[in-house]
Amino acid sequence: MSALGRHTALAPASGSRDDPWRASSPPIYQTATFEQESAAGFGAFDYARSGNPTRETLERHCARLEGAHGAFAFASGVAAITAVARLVRTGERIVAHTGLYGGTQRLLSRLAEERGVEIAWIDLVDGDPAPAVRGARLVLVESLTNPLWRAPDLRALAAACAGAGAWFAVDATATSPWLQKPVELGADLVIHSATKLLSGHADVTAGIVAVRDVTLAERLAFIQNSEGAVLGPFDSWLLLRGMRTLGIRLDRQQQTASALAHWLAAREDIVRVHHPSLPTHADFARHAAQARGPGVVVSFETGDEARSLALVERLERFAITVSFGSVDSTASVPCRMSHASVPAPLRHVAMPPRDLVRLSIGLEDFADLAEDLAGALDSSNAGCKGVARPGVHGRLR
Ligand SMILES: *Cc1c(COP(=O)(O)O)cnc(C)c1O
Repeated sequence: MSALGRHTALAPASGSRDDPWRASSPPIYQTATFEQESAAGFGAFDYARSGNPTRETLERHCARLEGAHGAFAFASGVAAITAVARLVRTGERIVAHTGLYGGTQRLLSRLAEERGVEIAWIDLVDGDPAPAVRGARLVLVESLTNPLWRAPDLRALAAACAGAGAWFAVDATATSPWLQKPVELGADLVIHSATKLLSGHADVTAGIVAVRDVTLAERLAFIQNSEGAVLGPFDSWLLLRGMRTLGIRLDRQQQTASALAHWLAAREDIVRVHHPSLPTHADFARHAAQARGPGVVVSFETGDEARSLALVERLERFAITVSFGSVDSTASVPCRMSHASVPAPLRHVAMPPRDLVRLSIGLEDFADLAEDLAGALDSSNAGCKGVARPGVHGRLR
């Protein structure tokens, strides 16, 4: 693996070496059961919740890419996070970053209520890690956070967690192993909503958990099999197919995203742009020291919520869609869409600005996307007089 180039390593080891027809594409074993040699003699597979060759090809591929001991494929990102949260028992403590994905906040809040797991919501991006993680069984951050793309210091958090005897879990949905390998930076668990960058085509809902060591692998294997939220064979195959082009997609998409972030930051009618490619971003240097690129999603504030809503509706090349990371560009207003599920007690700390627009940049040409944005910005300026704030231009964060 270490000898392979990064694009070469994106080819999964063939899951079909034993296939009599030597299929070039990994076969989809669309089967729930596998015939046994005898009543008491199990083969490599018996029942697809416990294991399926197509899913196993995907899981081994993900483990290799992450530099992890093992990986597990789930029916969604939230199912993957649920499995990780199952590692924590009643009375134990999870320290979670305040700005996590809305669905994760909702899930953890419910666990706290129903299962007596203690959840401490702490700012793990700007705060001091060692006191924050003391007493924790599990520490959970996102790298990068959504939608302001803040970068927690993964090495420092990993060291603090090791000192505190806590597992350190990183939801790396927004970076993917193409940009960042949290296990190499000290994480014990890496989580992905594979629905986003890994699949890349908005055609599958899936989640991955990769784990550093054999003990965690055994625990996750038990949880995956006993709770059963597994990824099916066809979805596993779709994800394998999407991941084959992860590098070429992301390189191109984040190049366009960076160009658009700089283009937006240069406009007088935008209040603030959030993308780690901008030297003015709060975590520009930290992210660059632990990742290979800024990612494909750009957020910006217009200064006025009504203007943001109008602007997003005028865009023609960006479909108004939740989620991100597809080959097609999309736009959203997180406060009204993805972050609507943030629980009420956390809304005052965890909600993005109301006027924030989030753009996931696809494979289209920069010129077409910029032209579309310019048209929408100009017409939303005309429609919302007095909201442009040239005075604050340049204070990007
Ligand atoms: C989308 C997302 C999830 C949830 O994943 P699903 O596949 O929608 O269940 C979790 N974490 C992050 C950071 C996400 O963006």
